[in-house]
Amino acid sequence: MPKITVPGQWYFVVDCLACEKPIPLAEAPSPDEKPDPLQYRTISNLRCPHCGYVWTYAPRQMSRRLVEYMPGDRFQAPILYVFAGIAALSFLAAAFFVARTYR
Ligand SMILES: [Zn+2]
Repeated sequence: MPKITVPGQWYFVVDCLACEKPIPLAEAPSPDEKPDPLQYRTISNLRCPHCGYVWTYAPRQMSRRLVEYMPGDRFQAPILYVFAGIAALSFLAAAFFVARTYR
């Protein structure tokens, strides 16, 4: 994944409708520099950098957020390991069962 955001920087962000990950649109001024309400405009045919889903996002779907860490798979990765572990255990159990049954 390309490095497109910088921790400590404010960004205009929408959440992808498909994968619900935040999509940074552009660097935004901080609330100190420019208090709400901010002017947003509709963005047509925005492609999600995470899953490739294309959608037109309305201003009310956008928000200004502070990036405190690199967006990515901080939560997703451990869950994937759990699923991979379950799949591996299922495979071993199935292999064990087959080996016992057809001995
Ligand atoms: Zn997406």
